[in-house]
Amino acid sequence: MNGSCLCGGVKFHFEKFDSSIANCHCSMCRKFSGAAYGTFGTVNSEKMNWESGFELIKIFYSSQKAHRGFCSTCGSSIFYRLTTPNAPFEIALGLLETEPTKPVSANIYCAHRPDWPRNIGAIPDFEESRNL
Ligand SMILES: [Zn+2]
Ligand SMILES: [Zn+2]
Repeated sequence: MNGSCLCGGVKFHFEKFDSSIANCHCSMCRKFSGAAYGTFGTVNSEKMNWESGFELIKIFYSSQKAHRGFCSTCGSSIFYRLTTPNAPFEIALGLLETEPTKPVSANIYCAHRPDWPRNIGAIPDFEESRNL
């Protein structure tokens, strides 16, 4: 799988996701992603190939247990990671260039989900921008 941030400075490659993929609806993932929820997939740290721009990644400690990496140039959310040694990277799925090697299989922290993203299936789809 290949992925990159919005500015293209951070680029990475890995073969496959090593565990299940979830949409996290907690308020920290929502704010980190600037979106309805954060979607993250697990990649073991030794399998992660940072091809360019690793030095651009800025770390924010969102709790004592975990930190989050984002691109210091464009602001893209890159990963969530526990602070324990050799913890896997929870890679933000929005960075991928192609479909993931596994489907998203869970919505987690749903008790914290706001109402506005709950009815996405009932909202009309447009192939491109809608005419206002
Ligand atoms: Zn960037
Ligand atoms: Zn979360």
